[in-house]
Amino acid sequence: MNWLERKFLGFFVKTKGVFSAPFFAGKGVVFMLHRVLPEMERNAYSLNKDLAITPEKLEEFILFFKQKGYIFISLDELADWLDRKINFQQKFICLTFDDGYQDNLIHGLPIFKKHSVPATIYITNCLPNGTAIMWWYLFENHLKFHSKLILNSSKGRSEFHWTDEQDAFSQFGQVSEAIKIIPGNELKDVLSLSFGLSDNEIEKQCKSMSLTWDEIKELANEPLITIGAHTMNHISVKQQTEQWVFEEMKTSKSDIEKHIGKEVVHFAYPFGGEFDVSIRDLELAAKAGFKTSTLNQPGNIFKSNKKNKQALARMPLGNTTDNERMSNYLNGIYHFSVNGFKKEKYF
Ligand SMILES: [Zn+2]
Repeated sequence: MNWLERKFLGFFVKTKGVFSAPFFAGKGVVFMLHRVLPEMERNAYSLNKDLAITPEKLEEFILFFKQKGYIFISLDELADWLDRKINFQQKFICLTFDDGYQDNLIHGLPIFKKHSVPATIYITNCLPNGTAIMWWYLFENHLKFHSKLILNSSKGRSEFHWTDEQDAFSQFGQVSEAIKIIPGNELKDVLSLSFGLSDNEIEKQCKSMSLTWDEIKELANEPLITIGAHTMNHISVKQQTEQWVFEEMKTSKSDIEKHIGKEVVHFAYPFGGEFDVSIRDLELAAKAGFKTSTLNQPGNIFKSNKKNKQALARMPLGNTTDNERMSNYLNGIYHFSVNGFKKEKYF
């Protein structure tokens, strides 16, 4: 952020978003969520606790947006709006859920139906296939019973040591970066070894939290639900070879289509931050046949996003999203604090 943007930000905050809203609130917000879990189950996690929203909180947000005059639209409608095929009087919200957790069906769907709210669920194929290495959960388990993690791949060896849970949490960012640079074709073997897991144990973990293909098909037949793709193996694409990434995108799309009998035209980049996505990947997503692709990069949605439908910003939404944060999302202050004067360019 340059000095001029900092000055503007100060002014926008001081004036409580009144002056930022007309320029930086945009037409809507795409929210990124993962799991929907009752408080008891959510509390079983610490590191990954915020990956889940409680059903009560999800409902509270839906009612809040409706009361504020927002409408909920699907990603197809968002794409049509960006292409100027349809228009909306009101501002809009899109809800998206990453990875393909079973709780989306159990706890999410009844809420979407009750309030007639569309939602997109991005499927990572390795979850229903029973081969996903959800290392963000494995690390949480591992750190309770061990005091180190060793990663050994063709990219080199990294070692992490911690004294207690808090110390391990503080190193999660570095662990995550060290894992993301491991070449996709080595990842499963490297992580199975690092976490000491057999194929059976990996499958057991998948079964405990993933949607099955039958359930994905059931969701795809719900008029409110859009099924999107999220790669085959949930790998940070920027760090991988072009050929690998394109294959991950294309196969994920065609494989889901085979299972649900419908076209899949929306995509979310795994992890989706600056470390994970490059301009090359936006081009690959378009080439793989996706109409829209979403990031994990904060920002609101503007008409000018038509130019970069493969890099749509998303805001995280969860139990810890407080009122102040929410109003800063909606009045554009948060968007401005991250992107400055740029509305549609993230790389
Ligand atoms: Zn994901």
